[in-house]
Amino acid sequence: MSARGRSWRRGSSLPDDCLFCKLYREGDHVNATEGFVAIRDINPRAPVHLLVIPQRHVETFKDISAFSSHEAKAMLDFIAETAAHEGLSSYRVAVNCGPDAGQTVYHLHWHILGGHRLGPEG
Ligand code: AMP
Ligand code: ZN
Repeated sequence: MSARGRSWRRGSSLPDDCLFCKLYREGDHVNATEGFVAIRDINPRAPVHLLVIPQRHVETFKDISAFSSHEAKAMLDFIAETAAHEGLSSYRVAVNCGPDAGQTVYHLHWHILGGHRLGPEG
């Protein structure tokens, strides 16, 4: 990675290397709208486990202010719309923020979990 890339991304992966940037471009999308897609989690922890991924590469929820009010509203609307599209009437929306919360992919994403009665871990 170039020095310029490092300073821009503060030491983490550039979007070119980012799994979720790649899946935004060419993943198997169960739902999509301008700026947002939803995919199935590869390791589902509930009968329905979707990930909502914004096009914008923002590393963690801490940086949510990188989204405009309009984008943030559109993202939340898309999460609700995706759950309804999947036939869920009762579900959990979760974001893991940082390593101690279990975040493994540093491109902001929202988990939608449902399809059965959820315990604390899904
Ligand atoms: P987190 O641990 O909150 O960062 O969530 C990352 C999620 O991405 C995990 O639930 C993984 O199972 C999921 N995941 C990792 N690689 C893929 C992939 N190629 N396609 C779909 N989901 C993935
Ligand atoms: Zn990314």
